[in-house]
Amino acid sequence: MTSRKLIAGNWKMNGGLAANEALVQALLQGIATPSCDVAVCVPAPYLAQVQALLSGSPIALGAQDVSAHPQGAFTGEQSAAMLGEFGVRYAIVGHSERRQYHGETDETVAAKAAAALAKGITPIVCVGETLAEREAGRTEEVVKRQLAAVIHVNGHCISEIVVAYEPVWAIGTGVTASPEQAQAVHAVLRAQLHHAASEHAAGIQILYGGSMNATNAATLLAQADIDGGLIGGASLKAPDFLQIIAAAR
Ligand code: PGA
Repeated sequence: MTSRKLIAGNWKMNGGLAANEALVQALLQGIATPSCDVAVCVPAPYLAQVQALLSGSPIALGAQDVSAHPQGAFTGEQSAAMLGEFGVRYAIVGHSERRQYHGETDETVAAKAAAALAKGITPIVCVGETLAEREAGRTEEVVKRQLAAVIHVNGHCISEIVVAYEPVWAIGTGVTASPEQAQAVHAVLRAQLHHAASEHAAGIQILYGGSMNATNAATLLAQADIDGGLIGGASLKAPDFLQIIAAAR
């Protein structure tokens, strides 16, 4: 278990100027000095707005994706350098929604992680199995393959990444992995990181994501290898997100 946990909100494609301001103000009022790292990963058009709102606060700014390319003819994409200009500290890469709806492969995800790392942005690398894969007994094989691709390309700086285990069947469904199910996969990922970078593996934050909420956060976060959470739905409600942050000691 790493010494400091990370609670990262993934707003997905939600929000608006007024709603973002209300949410961030409520978080800042409730947060005082958090005993964990905290971030919010916001839609790209709102990076500048939320950067200004978070200025001088203990909450870091994150993006939900980053281009694998440094610049050029990639309509609709944002480079790591561009994100860096808005104070972005974290970028989610390989979220299952991007793998599923945008055809992102393990190789694309690894390249995106590399692009982020090259500009000093911490990639939050998402891995996770579908329900069919879990039922076929393939969970371990799938998450190891997804992480291996990132290690293969980024092994030299693997200690700089954050990993998020997000079982696809638990995302936005209200069904969470049990603490034991999550811990079992986190232990597999930790062992894989240990194999790749033994001296650093204990310090790499491995987050759990998938219907984590104010009620179940404490038991999930008490597991030996769960170093934080990537929170979707519950990150849009300030009281819930604050409770999750309070549970991460
Ligand atoms: P959820 O989403 O908390 O709404 O399940 C988590 C995620 O997709 O990162």
